[in-house]
Parts: sequence; structure tokens; C-alpha cells
Amino acid sequence: MSRRKQIYEGKAKVLFEGPEPGTLVQYFKDDASAFNDQKKGVITGKGVLNNRISEYLMTRLNEMGIQTHFVRRLNMREQLVRELEIIPLRVIVRNVAAGSLSRRLGLSDGTALPRSIVEYHYKNEALSYPMVAEEHITAFGWASPHDLDDMMAMALRVNDFLSGLFLGVGIRLVDFRLEFGRLWTNDEMRIVIADEISPDSCRLWDLKTGEKLDRDRFREDLGRVEEGYQEVARRLGILPEGGPGDLKGPKTMQ
Ligand code: ADP
Ligand code: MG
Repeated sequence: MSRRKQIYEGKAKVLFEGPEPGTLVQYFKDDASAFNDQKKGVITGKGVLNNRISEYLMTRLNEMGIQTHFVRRLNMREQLVRELEIIPLRVIVRNVAAGSLSRRLGLSDGTALPRSIVEYHYKNEALSYPMVAEEHITAFGWASPHDLDDMMAMALRVNDFLSGLFLGVGIRLVDFRLEFGRLWTNDEMRIVIADEISPDSCRLWDLKTGEKLDRDRFREDLGRVEEGYQEVARRLGILPEGGPGDLKGPKTMQ
């Protein structure tokens, strides 16, 4: 790790300069946080699993023609991605009421929504990621109306595809958040999916029992937090060889 230039350290990942121009290495940590960092902890093996799960899901999306930043996985905790100009929004797609939507609108968790709902939140931790309208986004120039159309359309396609994929392994995709960025090739710009898609960024409930298999196990002190992430990987058929015992993994393999 020391031989590469670190570009950014976030809550869940570290970004390094990639081997070629226009690329970055995303290193997945085991660190967990919730409630705007008021609650912090470590989920052993989370980084290994999220690296693998995000690789799997983004590869499926790339195959579907939904472009993501993912290039290839490098080792247990690292993946090569295309460097993007990140759009400072979290795009949340919801199928079932949970979390902040339930709180804001007084719905009980688990209420099916009349249709999928897309929300935008300004990516600003100091402000606790406030929800914003398209008006704010275009007025402040965070994204153009055209960028927004692209993001909305992509988010809904991702939702359709991932909902079906998870349903096939007995999991309900309650909601998830995406980040997007701009990829420039020559003079052309495309909006592509960035960051990660994992149990840190999705609410995933067992279809039959309603058991939570995502970061809410950590948020709500439900226990067996590691097992939730493992179960998602197991059902997707990608639990790393060697099983849960192997999840600490080498720090990096260069
Ligand atoms: P944060 O605490 O800001 O959420 P993370 O720990 O999730 O940070 O680290 C990932 C950071 O890298 C995020 O800020 C995310 O916006 C950014 N990022 C993700 N994918 C890319 C990319 N392809 N190019 C540039 N930045 C990216
Ligand atoms: Mg993040």
C-alpha cells in the first residue's frame, strides 16, 4: 500500500492512484459506521465480501449494457476502477418503506410502495446528506437536467435488474443507493455508476422471514452482522474460497 499514492480515505474505502492514467484502485476496509459516524465499528471480513459482491453485481450490470466504473478485481480487498468526476449526489431507489422514508412519512417499515421511488440526496456528510429536489440539483449545477434523466433511467434499470437477481436467491431488494460519475472519452461524456453496490449500500431482506442481511444489522445491533454479509455472498454463489475463515484476507497482494 505504501508504494502507491493515496488519493482519499473515506469511511469504507481507500482510493489509490491506479496503474494507468484514468484509473483508481478501491481498497475495501472492514470499518463500519452509521448515524453520520456517531456509531463506529469493525465488521470482520466485510471489505473482502463487499469487494467481491460489488464486483459480481457491477459485472452483471456491465454485461447488461449498464456502464459502471468497475474494470477488474485485483485481490481480496482491491478492485481497479475508472476514475470519474463524481456527481455529489446519492441516488436512492426504494421499493419498500424503510429507514428515513418511514421516519419522514410515518410509514411502517416493510410497507410496499405504490411504485419504485427515486430520491436524490446531496453528498455532504457535514449536512447529513440532505434530500434535495431536481430544482436544487440543477440550480446549483451539481448535475444538468440531461444528467438527471440519465441517472434516473439508469437507476430504474438497475433496480429492475437487481430486484430480479436478488429475488432469484430469495432476497427482497428493499432499497439501495447509487453514486454516479462522469466519464470523459475524447470529447464525449457518459454518466456511469461509481462507488460500490453491496450490503453497505442496499437493504436486503430475506424473502420468507424478513430477516435483514445488510448494514442495518450493524445499525440496529441485531448481532450476527458478519453473517449477514456472508449470507448475501453465499446466496449469490460467490463466498470466497476457504469460506468465512478466509475473510480477513491478506492486506494487499502486490
Ligand atoms: P465516503 O466516506 O465518502 O462515502 P468511501 O469510503 O465510500 O467514501 O470511499 C469511496 C469514495 O470514492 C467516495 O467518496 C466516492 O464518491 C468516491 N468514488 C467512488 N468511485 C469513484 C470513481 N470511480 N472515481 C472517483 N471517485 C470515486
Ligand atoms: Mg461511501
